[in-house]
Amino acid sequence: DSPIQRKPEWIRVKAPVSKGYAETREIVKSKGLVTVCEEAACPNIGECWDKKHATMMILGEICTRACAFCNVRTGLPGAVDTDEPRRVAEAVAEMGLNHVVITSVDRDDLEDGGAQHFVDVIEAIRAASPGTTIEILTPDFLRKPAWALDKVIDAGPDVFNHNLETVPRLYLSIRPGARYYHSMRLLERVKERAPHQFTKSGLMVGLGESKEEVMQVMDDMRSAGIDFLTIGQYLQPTRKHAPVERFVTPEEFKSYEVLARAKGFLMVSASPLTRSSYHADADFAEMKAA
Ligand code: SF4
Ligand code: SF4
Repeated sequence: DSPIQRKPEWIRVKAPVSKGYAETREIVKSKGLVTVCEEAACPNIGECWDKKHATMMILGEICTRACAFCNVRTGLPGAVDTDEPRRVAEAVAEMGLNHVVITSVDRDDLEDGGAQHFVDVIEAIRAASPGTTIEILTPDFLRKPAWALDKVIDAGPDVFNHNLETVPRLYLSIRPGARYYHSMRLLERVKERAPHQFTKSGLMVGLGESKEEVMQVMDDMRSAGIDFLTIGQYLQPTRKHAPVERFVTPEEFKSYEVLARAKGFLMVSASPLTRSSYHADADFAEMKAA
């Protein structure tokens, strides 16, 4: 076990007590949905849910992987809930979202890794809320047939996000079930097949990576044509998870942001509380307007 370190003063979060928070909670519960906001114990839940930004987690709440940073339960998931796309689409319509982020657990147990379910969710949201832009944050489809990923790309999400999470050297300890180059290649494939789809990826820092390693990942990402980048501080969910090696200062985040912009990313969010889906709607709207 690793005791949880005291957080620095720049990691302050608002308590989830607002009316908007309660309304979001009610919609999520009444539709029987799972959110990554809750499952990952995200520190931004008070702020995001107040503004009705919830990131739905589809395909169940049990994951076939066990990443050292992640709070989601590991095990053998149950059957795919084929009614879920309808309920997700209803929740998106009720929340009146301009932009929605959909993610999932990893489903190594399914032949297509859950690709068809992603397609069904995208189509259901499109049908119910044609004006809503859709961002998906997918698993890596490692060892799945190539058609599985292609099917998700062809469903036409507006933003295709897959997180690299950390630098290659730390994959074995932090993301043991995944492969750095496979994840990078996945994002490159999206650009090849659908050049107009925006691609996005994210990193957690504070796990022991060096600045040079982060810069190398940025270069790899740009070579793969990745458009958007998010960088946030890793926070240890429980004593059983990987410890925080250090808290990266707001100034260092600022410097990552400047470097990333200089390397040509269209959108960069780098701050201690940045998460993949944090301010995703506002960032996307700003980028489209630019
Ligand atoms: Fe949910 Fe993302 Fe906001 Fe966290 S940052 S509360 S995961 S929408
Ligand atoms: Fe968590 Fe995703 Fe890793 Fe599963 S694959 S343990 S949901 S980060």
